[in-house]
Amino acid sequence: MIKTSRIIVCLLFSLSAAAQDQIPLKDFLMGKFDYRASSDFARVEEEHSSKPVYLHGVAYKAFVEMFEAAKKDSIHLKIVSGTRNFSEQKAIWDRKWNNLKDLEASEKLISILEFSAMPGTSRHHWGTEVDLNNLENSYFDEGRGKAEYEWLLKHAARFGFYQVYTSQNSGRTGYQEEKWHWSYLPLAAQYLEDYNLLVTYEQICNFHGSELASKHAIIANYVNGIPQEYRSLSFIQKHSQRLAQEKSPAAE
Ligand SMILES: [Zn+2]
Repeated sequence: MIKTSRIIVCLLFSLSAAAQDQIPLKDFLMGKFDYRASSDFARVEEEHSSKPVYLHGVAYKAFVEMFEAAKKDSIHLKIVSGTRNFSEQKAIWDRKWNNLKDLEASEKLISILEFSAMPGTSRHHWGTEVDLNNLENSYFDEGRGKAEYEWLLKHAARFGFYQVYTSQNSGRTGYQEEKWHWSYLPLAAQYLEDYNLLVTYEQICNFHGSELASKHAIIANYVNGIPQEYRSLSFIQKHSQRLAQEKSPAAE
């Protein structure tokens, strides 16, 4: 009975999305749209990425400014992953799920969630997230990687980018630390607010283990598993104002 009603919710959800020209905000937040066809999204230039990547146009503009500033300091930033929609995230999820043959469903889920999000719950859906240079934390511990990471820690916030998956020592829940994942918070903070208002566990469906999303508190622990201050809109608004001032001609 529960399963049937979940399927109906999923079906209605996709029908309502298909019936409209403009992407409903809830669909956007869950990656249920074609970012390649969206006028809000931009294809990243080859010099900024290691493969074809799209980003929200506003976040991309900020990234290019950060890229240029880094270049002046001999730091080369390369986007290795940007926007991913629901089906792209599902492909990652399914591949990892199918590789973990000998585990119980909950164990598979916890294992995948160390570094990968459930489809419909990834910040990468929003076009505000970039994975930079390398997908191993150890890369950033020495040599070139260390210099890149230290540059980002010092300067990225000036361009609106923050490492959201920091060490969990401060009590943050969810994914393991990701030194490569940087979020454009002037947009993403609002999207997280919207997500918390609009998305419910019933809508997280149609993939292996999706029925366990509620039991594992995916929205509370993972979607919201970022440092507390980065969840505060007033922090971001204050910061965005500072960004605007820095970029206005009067401030130059
Ligand atoms: Zn990422």
